[in-house]
Amino acid sequence: MIYSLINTKNKKLYLLDNICHYSWQIMRLYEYQAKDILSRYGIKTPKGVVTDTAEKIEFDETPSVVKAQVLVGGRGKAGGIKFADNNGEIKKTVQYLLSTSIKGEKVKKVLVEERLDIDHEFYLGITLDRDKKMPVALASAYGGMDIEDIAINSPQSIKKKYIDPLFGFWDFNARKIVKDIGIKGNDLIGVTSVLSALYTIFKEYDAELVEINPFVRTVDGRFLAADAKILIDDNSLFRHREFEEQVKMQYSDIELMTKMKNIAYVGLDGDIGIIGNGAGLVMATIDTVNLYGGNPANFCDLGGGASKDRVIDAIDIVFSNKNVKGVFINIMGGITRCDEIAKGIIEYKNTKRIDIPFVIRMVGTREDEGRKICESNGIPVISTMDEAAKMIVRLVRDNTYN
Ligand code: GDP
Ligand code: MN
Repeated sequence: MIYSLINTKNKKLYLLDNICHYSWQIMRLYEYQAKDILSRYGIKTPKGVVTDTAEKIEFDETPSVVKAQVLVGGRGKAGGIKFADNNGEIKKTVQYLLSTSIKGEKVKKVLVEERLDIDHEFYLGITLDRDKKMPVALASAYGGMDIEDIAINSPQSIKKKYIDPLFGFWDFNARKIVKDIGIKGNDLIGVTSVLSALYTIFKEYDAELVEINPFVRTVDGRFLAADAKILIDDNSLFRHREFEEQVKMQYSDIELMTKMKNIAYVGLDGDIGIIGNGAGLVMATIDTVNLYGGNPANFCDLGGGASKDRVIDAIDIVFSNKNVKGVFINIMGGITRCDEIAKGIIEYKNTKRIDIPFVIRMVGTREDEGRKICESNGIPVISTMDEAAKMIVRLVRDNTYN
């Protein structure tokens, strides 16, 4: 997926990317759903059927290609794309794929399609460039399974056109990059309209990525979307209610619970629980803990003005992850009151009686009151994020807290 390459420059951004874009704000569509949308916008896709069982499948367009429907990328290389020459083989292959997992994701549906006689594989896509803060149209004459390598090794072969949303993306803009990837003559009009349609889909679905890879030219000169990927910003879900079930499937139980309580939580794979107020502060906290050699177990944002009960909910959620060996609570008091946070922490500690180390850093509104409450209950309050991060890393590593 080119999307992550464009947006990944350093580790900090990578982490931010993981938090915001892999598990939190993005909803992924399956290939068959993406292709449905594409064909509704006039883009040609191979004839096909989607199934969750091998029994009833009858598909006459042989030879065929049988494709596992999973949300992870790189299915081809991971064995998720198979060829079948007749109905018997289709059945067997569907059955086989339904019994496997691709990169850890269980295959629940399979798409069976006419097999294309491919002459050439191109790449077409629209994504968001967060550095430029603009959508960008991308096209390459070298599509297919190695597009990530191409993006790294010969970035000049990927043609780009940044899109000012107020100006729009016009046919002459699209035509320019379609020409740049070597498409000419009668094909120019058709392929240009495909790229324009991708931008229309990008806008209307509030997408972060709409991608056709490969965009195929067949031996008999037709152009079709052989694969399709759409990622939707899930903050726009209220406009796309048809995807609600899909979203529920893509989140863990903890993530759903926190969504309901309106606490922003994302599970990570370390052992230090992180709670803060404000997404930027929480991300900075995660980065600082990382810097001192610790491994954050989660991202958890209380938001502004959190009440005592909200703090208790958040700690409860963080501890529902059994890997957590310590928790770092980082508060910048503004509309959030430090004393309210402190009351939540103490009430939690006193009722649950857990002996996992807490490190608190809090500054700002009612800092002195908050500090007093914590310290009179034996919990130290640190003034700087740096010191607090070092401390939690040391406590978790040495397990020296009593
Ligand atoms: P991905 O690996 O998840 O991106 O899956 P794709 O659907 O893009 O398929 C991977 C590769 O399989 C493509 O780049 C093609 O080379 C090949 N492939 C997919 N569909 C067909 C087809 O209909 N005919 C042929 N000949 N190859 C195909
Ligand atoms: Mn693909």
